[in-house]
Amino acid sequence: MPPMATLFTRIINREIPAEIVYEDDHVVAFRDIDPKAPTHILIVPRQEIPGVAELPDSGDHLHLLNAAKKIAEQEGLTNGYRLVINQGNDGGQTVPHLHVHLLGGRSLSWPPG
Ligand code: 5GP
Repeated sequence: MPPMATLFTRIINREIPAEIVYEDDHVVAFRDIDPKAPTHILIVPRQEIPGVAELPDSGDHLHLLNAAKKIAEQEGLTNGYRLVINQGNDGGQTVPHLHVHLLGGRSLSWPPG
């Protein structure tokens, strides 16, 4: 039996609905179901990399930052934004498929909780 597809792969494959805002050969981006800011988008490599701790030397994750820049422009986030990757339990990661949170549309406090 092949391993179960991750939640985000199922969104990428249109098996679970989501508002997809961007996609290319390497990444897919969609709005977070529980947004923490007026703009809250998840940018996900098509490749099922569990997290930063498992990053291969090459692959779809190398395109995440460039996609984030394009999506931020597309969303009109001219006043700034934040990119977040939660890693593992202490990082608060809940979905084991690497993703970058793009948060914007309000002033974000620092440090995060
Ligand atoms: P993490 O906690 O792993 O850093 O981020 C996972 C994110 O996925 C959370 O912000 C959560 O709200 C979002 N999420 C969980 N399930 C779904 C879903 O079914 N659809 C969408 N669009 N986002 C989801």
